[in-house]
Amino acid sequence: MSEDDAKRYIEYFQKGMMTEGTEHRFDHSFALKWLEQSRTIREEMARREAPQHYKSLVREFEAEMASYVPKTKYDTFEANAIFSGVLKLVDEACGAWDVKLNRPVVLAASTALDITPLALPSSDVHHLFAGLGTYSFCNYWSKMWSETFNCLSEAHGTVQMDRPKVRSALMANPHLVLLPLTMTLYYAANSTLVGYGPLMQRSALRMELLTAMEVFAVGHEYGHFFLEEGTGHIGDVPEDERSTAEEHFADAIGYLLCRAYGNKHNNWSAFCGAATLLFFRSVELCELVRERVGGAPIPKTSTVASHPPTKARVKRVCDLAGIYTAPDQRPTVTGYLAETALICDVVEEAVLASVDEFKRHEAG
Ligand SMILES: [Zn+2]
Repeated sequence: MSEDDAKRYIEYFQKGMMTEGTEHRFDHSFALKWLEQSRTIREEMARREAPQHYKSLVREFEAEMASYVPKTKYDTFEANAIFSGVLKLVDEACGAWDVKLNRPVVLAASTALDITPLALPSSDVHHLFAGLGTYSFCNYWSKMWSETFNCLSEAHGTVQMDRPKVRSALMANPHLVLLPLTMTLYYAANSTLVGYGPLMQRSALRMELLTAMEVFAVGHEYGHFFLEEGTGHIGDVPEDERSTAEEHFADAIGYLLCRAYGNKHNNWSAFCGAATLLFFRSVELCELVRERVGGAPIPKTSTVASHPPTKARVKRVCDLAGIYTAPDQRPTVTGYLAETALICDVVEEAVLASVDEFKRHEAG
């Protein structure tokens, strides 16, 4: 394929994936205009994080964005900046497992607002469409979960969590229920978290979770690439169970790459599987609320619709985390995963109870 043909091929998919009314989000000249208009807000946000040198940080970011040349009509600076970094981490993790894709991965901005990236494996190159939908989802949920964990440890310290402890922390901090409630309701109405609005939460844990979730999401797509190349195997599976088996395989690859990344970069949530678990539980909570409020049906093209039920996915990844951990460290990993799952259970119950309460109120 010539360079021009390749570009047209990518643009064709980008155009097809786009939701009506979102064109401006994938227009670099629009982004540059926004860059000029939003300097004050950006400076204010940067000042909170780095009061000493926030001005130079903002200038650096602006210069980088202004010099970015999109490869296709719809490529965006943000998607490229975020996911080319994630791709590097995933490639490095492949190296740690001594596995390598034979064909190059070509990154393009996804114009869909879906949670997961879209992989288009081929016999030539592998295309990976990743962008706004995935990083919005990971960004908001990593903020939400890190806020929850921070409040829990403020309330109870480092002691083992149980249901009453988590419940009492939620009672004392109503925003821990309100936040996932509004996020899931927004998702139910829009099938995405893109455009949910600003949400301030800055902590080391938030960054840890965010990167780990993104590495998992991209690592999962690498699983599909390995299958396409014939270097990944799912064994003898009846035809009608094939796509489920392929998804579980891709999850396993996603988690194992996440684990290697966590090992190298000291990211506990990635290493032990908690970030993968939280990613799945966030998707599940979004879907549960959507069902309860009778939100917009899942578009058939959505990557959520094509994946196996979350419970089975969570169980497999937790099992894998146990298997790959040395016996002396195993109780720490499985204990942490069980505690994380328990926190998710209590948050889920509280959110669903609020949805029901709201529906009763509406009906009455
Ligand atoms: Zn998949």
